[in-house]
Amino acid sequence: MEDFERLISAQKIEGDDTENKLRPKSLDSYIGQEKVKQNLAVFMSSAKKRGESLDHVLLYGPPGLGKTTLSHIIAGEMNAGLRVTTGPAVERPADLASILTNLQAGEILFIDEIHRLNPTVEEILYSAMEDGSLDIVIGKGPTARTMRIPLEPFTLVGATTKAGMLSAPLRDRFGMVFRLELYSKDELSAIINRSAGILDVEITPEAAMEIAGRSRGTPRIANRLLKRIRDFAEYENAGRIDLPLAKKGLVRLEVDDLGLDITDINILRTIIDKFNGGPVGLDTLAASTGEDAGTIEDVYEPYLLQLGFIARTPRGRVCTQAAYKHLGIKLFNPTLFDMDEKED
Ligand code: ADP
Repeated sequence: MEDFERLISAQKIEGDDTENKLRPKSLDSYIGQEKVKQNLAVFMSSAKKRGESLDHVLLYGPPGLGKTTLSHIIAGEMNAGLRVTTGPAVERPADLASILTNLQAGEILFIDEIHRLNPTVEEILYSAMEDGSLDIVIGKGPTARTMRIPLEPFTLVGATTKAGMLSAPLRDRFGMVFRLELYSKDELSAIINRSAGILDVEITPEAAMEIAGRSRGTPRIANRLLKRIRDFAEYENAGRIDLPLAKKGLVRLEVDDLGLDITDINILRTIIDKFNGGPVGLDTLAASTGEDAGTIEDVYEPYLLQLGFIARTPRGRVCTQAAYKHLGIKLFNPTLFDMDEKED
């Protein structure tokens, strides 16, 4: 077993290579998100017919749901080049100006974490997205003048985990805004089967379903669990991943039957044990659990909310009866759930 532990920790630092290998390359092989796919297919086909570049697209939703993958697919389907950057990487207006002026006609510019763009950089995007030109101020004071540089037509694909943090002027300039939803168990099982095929590992339908049920609605997690359990199968010289092996692997990976890991449990237990079930503010919760507030909000909370284990109230997060039940804790304060409060 010790060897297996070492294997897992060594593999944790693997690069992004397998992630890229597992990315679907076309809309047809992109599983789930049917509404997004249908709309995108229509808009892409009309843009192609008109010989125009696609309107700007904003994708939002929790990490690992397929935003980057979709941007690659859009570029592929539009037969266009793709440039990839992230909000925090574009530090100065000049950096963005240089990226934009170097884009070829029709190219796709993918900006991940677009909500983290510096406001002065963001302003450059307004005229670029709306008029297809760059407005640059030259000089200072009374002699300052604006120079307008025309750009090649391009499509901006912005991705964010926090649509609410995007400024209104930026949000309004996207012609299409798509929200990606957490995936169903069936969809995740289809993703696991597809990935197993690419990784050349045999898996039974029951094992794929079991892993799917513990993947928190997220393809990236489904693929990660599959890869770790494949290691486990190889280590045990098992020819394929079956249900008992999948279950054993998931126990070793400390993922419970709903896919909650130690951090989720820590968050729930902190609300219950230290704050009597809540309400507790996000920052206080972050300080008490030792997790980053943004990580709790973006990575852990969406799934806990979907499970109905926590609720957001104007005074903070509360744990629900379902969470107490899942953790096997007797409810200490039953009146807590009579509160008539709306989500914040
Ligand atoms: P995000 O950009 O939203 O964080 P990614 O696009 O990087 O997420 O997706 C993470 C991984 O999940 C990718 O390796 C990809 O293989 C897989 N994935 C995401 N969405 C799908 C999907 N709809 N079908 C199949 N695999 C997917």
